[in-house]
Amino acid sequence: MSAASVRFRSTRAEAPSVGLADALRRGLAEDGGLYVPEAFPSVGPADFGAAESLPAVAATLLAPFFRGDVLEAELSAITAEAFDFPVPLKALPAEHDLSVLELFHGPTAAFKDFGARFLAASLARLKPSIDRPLTILVATSGDTGGAVAGAFHGRPGTRVVVLFPKGRVSPRQEAQLTCWDGNVQALSVEGSFDDCQRLVKAAFTNDALKRRFELSSANSINLGRLLPQAAYYAQSSLAVFRRTGKPANYVIPSGNLGNALACIWARTVGLPIGHVHLAHNRNRTVPDYFAAGDWQPRASVATIASAMDVGNPSNMERLRDLVPNLNELKRFVSVDWVDDPVIAERIQTDYRRFGEVWCPHTAVGAEAYERLPAEVRAAGPWVLVGTAHPAKFPETVEPLLGLTLPIPPALEALLALPRRFRVIEPAEAALTQALL
Ligand SMILES: *Cc1c(COP(=O)(O)O)cnc(C)c1O
Repeated sequence: MSAASVRFRSTRAEAPSVGLADALRRGLAEDGGLYVPEAFPSVGPADFGAAESLPAVAATLLAPFFRGDVLEAELSAITAEAFDFPVPLKALPAEHDLSVLELFHGPTAAFKDFGARFLAASLARLKPSIDRPLTILVATSGDTGGAVAGAFHGRPGTRVVVLFPKGRVSPRQEAQLTCWDGNVQALSVEGSFDDCQRLVKAAFTNDALKRRFELSSANSINLGRLLPQAAYYAQSSLAVFRRTGKPANYVIPSGNLGNALACIWARTVGLPIGHVHLAHNRNRTVPDYFAAGDWQPRASVATIASAMDVGNPSNMERLRDLVPNLNELKRFVSVDWVDDPVIAERIQTDYRRFGEVWCPHTAVGAEAYERLPAEVRAAGPWVLVGTAHPAKFPETVEPLLGLTLPIPPALEALLALPRRFRVIEPAEAALTQALL
């Protein structure tokens, strides 16, 4: 492990580098860029000793990123507080070595709980400024908003404003976004996820808002979401490596590329990770980039894997910063995309084969895995990343399988609460008004 502390620079190189705490508080750099480590520390399997639990693995992985920062002494407490739920890596009875990493046992039943809870636990340990309360803006395609709202709800000195695309999230996701009171406010935006993301980015450059509030973002543009997500790739790849002596290969259902980037960062520091296969839905910006070589963000289209309906994935800016050359990227990253009817079929097939019920997002990954050439699957081990609990999407999954899915108790408790939200136009002025 390297000894010097890590600083974070903007991908656009026009804002000063900052320490960890500042990067977490700001979310987005002043020049509109995203924070990335100036240099990656090196952390390999030998550094982890016998550590197995997620809090312990995370504390080792993230120690060099916290070194010298005001949060350094708090790291173990943060990982213990944030990661207090199970993260099973389950072997599947497939032809080749395949496991599913279930990332949906947190309070809002999707992987967004890891990043949201870690960010909240970190910010709660920084001294709040009394004259400008910390206002956290979060654009959500469905799962982030609930996770962030739940993680920050009731924490003094912070206010959370969630923007979600009206009518484009599942009813249970909407319930999780709008069931909060007190310091959490939900805005239903008459537009797409990309509109929500654009409004959040615009707020950061709005002088009137910056004078009144200390603004931060809890989207995966915030480092405090990405770093903790790297922890479950460290933990699962170590488990696979200890079992097989081989690096783990991952299939990752992707939208904004936060989850995939966390995996690639874990690989970059030295975890035993081989190939990373990105599984997208009909939003094909990334697949088209891999095929044609130019980056063409576009409007998103609605699919049944709605948390992945992103036409302008923001973390591509970080990925291209890390590996600017596409051919180099293709040496360890590949991509596929899956259309809605095939997602539905995959949910049915894998229920018959494995007895597993996938959420529509995980099913995109399961299909992308099946389409890999047999020799690539045989060369595993492979890990399919399970991103959400299927009970979040009963209107899609239950009719396909003809069954009623049991609801995780934490999710059931949220569904029972009353809904509160306000509808706004997809315009900067409407957001400014709602905030003031
Ligand atoms: C957010 C989300 C995704 C996409 O993850 P990104 O980090 O945006 O690529 C996939 N599945 C589910 C269930 C999600 O909530």
